[in-house]
Amino acid sequence: MNIIFVGVQGSGKGTQAKIIARKLGLCHISTGDLLRETTGELRKEIDSYITVGKLVPDDLILKMLLERMEQDDCKKGIILDGYPRKIVQAETLDTKITVDEIIEIAISDETALHRLEGRLTCKKCGHGFNERTEPKPNVKGVCNDCGGALFSRDDDHKEAILERIATYHKETKKVLDHYKGRAVTINGEQSIEKVTEDILKVLEKR
Ligand code: AMP
Repeated sequence: MNIIFVGVQGSGKGTQAKIIARKLGLCHISTGDLLRETTGELRKEIDSYITVGKLVPDDLILKMLLERMEQDDCKKGIILDGYPRKIVQAETLDTKITVDEIIEIAISDETALHRLEGRLTCKKCGHGFNERTEPKPNVKGVCNDCGGALFSRDDDHKEAILERIATYHKETKKVLDHYKGRAVTINGEQSIEKVTEDILKVLEKR
């Protein structure tokens, strides 16, 4: 089963993709993580887009995605988090895999801004926290799970956040039209647990 998660940054699609992938034994692929794991000269080029909230070029992200999809742990199926973000990416994806489910996690722009400005990630284990919403760190700057240091992403500053929200409305929402009414919308303003429950209900119907 191949599932796509669509949602504005801060909607919780990364958090949910991780949880659902673990529960269903699927492979979670975050294109944002693939880009952030890149090193060397290429990373400098990537950062020149990411830090200002722009999308990276399609050919660059596609190469990384295809390499990741070919790995053994993806054989049972994948959850794509952050791809496709444009119609042209959806069209390319259709030539590579069958997309079985499209889950849209919907939140307001105000919630997105509020959440992203408070977002923190653990350097060591990658778990996400938030200064403003749940889950909050028990000790400022320290991960509740592994004790690692928390950091704020380079693109979680107001200017880049507003740019990313604008790109979501201009480009990424059209991806939902591409799948012609097949996308199921989940209310992302609810608790993490409730959102997971709603997504699982949709997937269990298959
Ligand atoms: P994310 O971690 O999903 O919020 O992605 C972080 C950043 O990586 C985005 O703001 C883009 O700059 C870049 N990115 C991630 N996925 C894509 C994609 N499918 N196409 C182009 N750029 C992407």
